[in-house]
Amino acid sequence: MKRQPAIFVSHGSPTLPLENGPAVDFLRGLGPALGRPEAILVVSAHWDTPHPAVSGAPRPETIYDFYGFPPALYRLRYPAPGAPELAERVAGLLEANGLRARVDPARGLDHGAWTPLYLMYPEADVPATQLSIQWREGPAHHVRLGEALRPLRGEGVLIFASGGATHNLRELSQQRGNPAPQQWTVEFNEWLADALAARRVDDLVDYRQRAPHAVRNHPTDEHLIPVFVALGAGDEGGTTTRLHSSIESGVISMDAYRFD
Ligand code: ZN
Repeated sequence: MKRQPAIFVSHGSPTLPLENGPAVDFLRGLGPALGRPEAILVVSAHWDTPHPAVSGAPRPETIYDFYGFPPALYRLRYPAPGAPELAERVAGLLEANGLRARVDPARGLDHGAWTPLYLMYPEADVPATQLSIQWREGPAHHVRLGEALRPLRGEGVLIFASGGATHNLRELSQQRGNPAPQQWTVEFNEWLADALAARRVDDLVDYRQRAPHAVRNHPTDEHLIPVFVALGAGDEGGTTTRLHSSIESGVISMDAYRFD
């Protein structure tokens, strides 16, 4: 079985599967480029719990955790099989590393998980499950989570973190359709790219103090938190690849990274 990378993608709007554009084209190509893993462990910005939880659901439901979107979006389903054995393995790895963990018997796949997977693996035939974040615990906690999960990559499991390289919905509404990338978004986005490429972990975990316009790009940081899990799951001294870069509606970075 093939060793898998850890991936971070920006999932953008819930309407992602109904859209066109460079980020959608990228995600459609990403599945074939990666090949078929044994299973996918998703870490989405949209499942937050006080302590790590991992879904053991044998048939995870498609969760429509958004409101007021086109009816066509609610008709899409992502019926991938679950991964109950992987869920037990994840809980065991976390416990072995001193992190509390529980298996949730019923949790499905939220839109942070299923909308990019819908584009990457449209057959929905790769077993997939989800691990929650604890965004109030901050970046360093999530690097530790990722480090604990690192052995899974050698077991053919794709670690798939899904969030947003930038995420300020209030600024998005003020853009009123202006597609010109804002300077404060570009500067943060490039700082993030450089820090991830050089694996400047100390800078990254303290990004709210050290990165330009960090708080403006992430008023709360749940959408950036998944990248720290992927970073931690990469090899020590390993390589970072910027797989995709684009900015939608001036302020929403759709950047994606691969950690080996
Ligand atoms: Zn989101």
